[in-house]
Amino acid sequence: MAEETIAIYPGSFDPPTLGHLDLIERASKIFSRVIVAVAQNVAKEGLFSVEERVGMLSDMVEPIGNVSVDTFKGLSVEFARRQGAIALIRGLRVVSDFEFELTMAINNHKLNPEVDTVCLMPSEPYLFLSSRLVKEIAGFGGSVQHYVTPEVDRLLRAKLGRS
Ligand code: ADP
Repeated sequence: MAEETIAIYPGSFDPPTLGHLDLIERASKIFSRVIVAVAQNVAKEGLFSVEERVGMLSDMVEPIGNVSVDTFKGLSVEFARRQGAIALIRGLRVVSDFEFELTMAINNHKLNPEVDTVCLMPSEPYLFLSSRLVKEIAGFGGSVQHYVTPEVDRLLRAKLGRS
């Protein structure tokens, strides 16, 4: 049997969107195992707790056999090293993502040359979708049902006091 290829998909996922899920599904077809890794970043407090994000992601990836969810503190390349991963998955939506992702990829490669960054482009409906946009729309009472799963939609409304 071929050697196992593990990829880490690090991010904030506050909250996870269908754009994230689209990327996870594609990555799961390329790598034998994908670990979605929620960053525990004290400086970046989110709307949802890390535990809530892990819960939402775990529900979303449950039907995909080779994907699991975990959390990490510190450098994603160090987490990747500990997991024996060969790649970090990132999403490239629009040109503005490129500069940031390129800088991260170059620096991460310097920190750990054994891990490469693999950028995937989202399917068209998710090109302009971000967690920030979802929070903004939901915060103003708009519907985000086309951007997140029904469960995330429900939790978002509960969090914002609109059930
Ligand atoms: P971060 O705080 O690390 O940017 P995010 O949760 O916002 O965390 O995003 C994690 C990764 O997923 C990033 O590489 C981002 O570009 C990508 N991503 C976010 N939304 C989408 C989307 N709609 N389509 C494709 N990739 C996305």
